[in-house]
Amino acid sequence: METHLTLSVYYVVSLLQCMSLCCLFPDLIPPSVCNLLNSSTIYANNEVSLAEVDIYGFDYDYTLALYSDALNTMIYNTARDFLIEHFKYPEGIRKYDYIPNFAARGLHYDIQKGLLMKIDAFHYIQLGTVYRGLNPVPDEEVLRLYGGTHHVPLQQVSGFYGKVSGPKVKQFMDIFSIPEMTLLAVANDFFISNDIEYDPEHLYKDVSVSEAIGMVHIKGYMYKWIMQDLEKYILGRDETYAVLHRLVSHGKKLFLITNSPFSFVDKGMRYMVGKDWRDFFDVVIVQADKPHFFNDCVKPFRRLDGNGDLQWDKINSLDKGQIYKQGNLYDFLRLTGWRGSSVLYFGDHLYSDLADLMLRHGWRTGAIVPELDLETKVVNTEQYAQSLTWLQALTGLLERMQMHRDSQSREVLQDWLKEREELRLRTKNLFNPQFGSIFRTCHNPTYFSRRLCRFSDVYMASISCLLNYDLSYTFYPRRTPLQHEAPLWMDQLCTGCMKTPFLEEMAHIR
Ligand SMILES: [Mg+2]
Repeated sequence: METHLTLSVYYVVSLLQCMSLCCLFPDLIPPSVCNLLNSSTIYANNEVSLAEVDIYGFDYDYTLALYSDALNTMIYNTARDFLIEHFKYPEGIRKYDYIPNFAARGLHYDIQKGLLMKIDAFHYIQLGTVYRGLNPVPDEEVLRLYGGTHHVPLQQVSGFYGKVSGPKVKQFMDIFSIPEMTLLAVANDFFISNDIEYDPEHLYKDVSVSEAIGMVHIKGYMYKWIMQDLEKYILGRDETYAVLHRLVSHGKKLFLITNSPFSFVDKGMRYMVGKDWRDFFDVVIVQADKPHFFNDCVKPFRRLDGNGDLQWDKINSLDKGQIYKQGNLYDFLRLTGWRGSSVLYFGDHLYSDLADLMLRHGWRTGAIVPELDLETKVVNTEQYAQSLTWLQALTGLLERMQMHRDSQSREVLQDWLKEREELRLRTKNLFNPQFGSIFRTCHNPTYFSRRLCRFSDVYMASISCLLNYDLSYTFYPRRTPLQHEAPLWMDQLCTGCMKTPFLEEMAHIR
């Protein structure tokens, strides 16, 4: 009870401090200063001073151009129909419509077992988040399937960069993969519920490995849909213009490195920024073939003319107003001289866009995570705050109660463990009933979350968050305590628990 009061007093004082600051200086307070999370905030994993950043780089899809959920439905429908018409999958699969919010980014898929699941930073499957088709797999069965544990060995999972060929458990890391996961789940569900024998590995290959889903991208269907109805598919048009305009008017240099083709990017940028959009950028690179662009130096730059046709001239400089195709980062660095922490590059794919830049080249990186919009809304609800506060308190009580060996205490302990499970389930369901938050399992960071911290200096819901900050602003990450630097309230609890039963027991043994 004392702990509860201490915590409550702390939160109330902090909130009052924040409110009074916000009232006194409303224009000077960036969103991150307030205790309530704000989806306009830029969150820092590492200290970044914008005053040192002279050059801003951008990916295109899901970075400069955010897409509406309507795109997921189109990708799903087209890939599903391709599976039926091209690979002769059963017609019954067509009755499954796209299920919005079924899957979430960062999930893993066991290719041989046909299971979709969430894995934490320590390679443990979060029990309760394993789906075969559209149905959850009971915990006991998960343990049986993985040899009595819910740990997935390193050698079976996609590699550090997500690039190991032929993993047994693949991680889906980009936003485009959400309809892909849904199609896998739906097709598995059809076979299982109709008691039809099938090989999940064939299904994975037909859906994912450059087949049904790949065809949507390779054959350019997705590009055609978006170009035909920009208003329907592209979100945040005015904000993208405002960000680019602001950076250029402050003397910053801009560049674009995208895997998409020029005609597609040109149409979208004209819609968002205007026909003179190329004036904003010092270098524009299309069909870059990331992540290879960042980690090998095989492909040279080629120039495209105004019609998008390839030119044969040797590239000795990267000039403003020109469009370049392919290339590699090593030539890019040599020709521009843009190095180190004066460059900040934004992208949505943690592996393809950010990992190499962060680990090998020392550029600053910004991850675009549109899911923050929903996640911060949930975290701000009273229901979440209450559940989390009680969950934390209950965990502290469990830690203390475990030292008591009498039967009454054991009974209370069991009740609390049960309550803790119910609370965990309730908080998980607030985000996504199947898989919960993309950032957390019960108490650990997710595999996705750990990679986000490793490969990005800052992360945000969209580049429009930049509009809330002065361009000399410094992002300071919050100093979160390591386990051995536990905050005071934990110390108080621990001191209490160690003093009584443990010491008594030790005294009795002596
Ligand atoms: Mg992208």
